[in-house]
Amino acid sequence: MTSARGRFAPSPTGDFHLGNLRTALYAYVFARHAGGDFIVRVEDLDRSRVRPGVAERQLADLAALGLTWQGPVVYQSQRESLYEDALATLRSQGRVYECYCSRREIREAVAESLGAPHHAVGFYAGTCRELSTAEREARRAERPAALRLRADAAEVGVADLVHGEYLARVDDFILRRGDGGFAYNLAVVVDDAAQGVTQVVRGDDLLESAPRQTFLARALGLKAPSYAHVPLVLNPAGQRLAKRDGAVTRADLARQGVDDAALFLLIAHSMGLLLDSGRDRPTAPTRVLLDALVAEFQPAHISREPWVFRAAAL
Ligand SMILES: [Zn+2]
Repeated sequence: MTSARGRFAPSPTGDFHLGNLRTALYAYVFARHAGGDFIVRVEDLDRSRVRPGVAERQLADLAALGLTWQGPVVYQSQRESLYEDALATLRSQGRVYECYCSRREIREAVAESLGAPHHAVGFYAGTCRELSTAEREARRAERPAALRLRADAAEVGVADLVHGEYLARVDDFILRRGDGGFAYNLAVVVDDAAQGVTQVVRGDDLLESAPRQTFLARALGLKAPSYAHVPLVLNPAGQRLAKRDGAVTRADLARQGVDDAALFLLIAHSMGLLLDSGRDRPTAPTRVLLDALVAEFQPAHISREPWVFRAAAL
């Protein structure tokens, strides 16, 4: 597969708000702009956070904005054998080890280590990397082990289409959690490659995971996709938009009289696109507007600034 393919990969943990819908629209126009197709994947591996019925409402929201996707929607919860295979490959390379640390232990180890700038929140200091067999057996009795990737503190650069070159040191991140669930980073890399995804467009809160995923793709002998991390939507206080900010979902907005065509234009205008289309009385169906959006879109013109959304301004 050499043609472009983009994707949108939501987690069904809550209804979409404007920020999610805007990211989906970006992923779609990026794919279509490149002459490629677009797929949707539901990232439902963390069962403790999945809410029944949410995935169906999320897909309905995408369809209401006129988005169409290639093939059936793929659910990560049905693909665990693929992740097992990837894990086996990494094991055969001697790249997998057990970690017994609690969240608190990881925080404390990071606080003790160096204070180097890359030792940010969530960076694993390597506590369990070189334990002896006896130490492992003792610690295994305390709690179920997670599995980590031996990354050898590799420096990996990613050329992001919005943020430019982004370089980070890769830590020994988690491949499988202590509860047996496969980690986001592993599943994403395996699925993007298996599904022929060539471009990953997603919120820029995930920019820092791109070097990890690129490293993992290379370790598995997979081609890493290109990246475009698009700005988030914030509330007026500068926080990431959320339910607490009032009418932020498609259903909320519909109750305030914002129909699907108006919602589409609201998002398109926030992207600096379709500014000539009237916000007050949109008459064109979203399908037509979507084609116009793709025609107008220029990746080089994406702003790095977040969109600040004031629910009261509607
Ligand atoms: Zn550990």
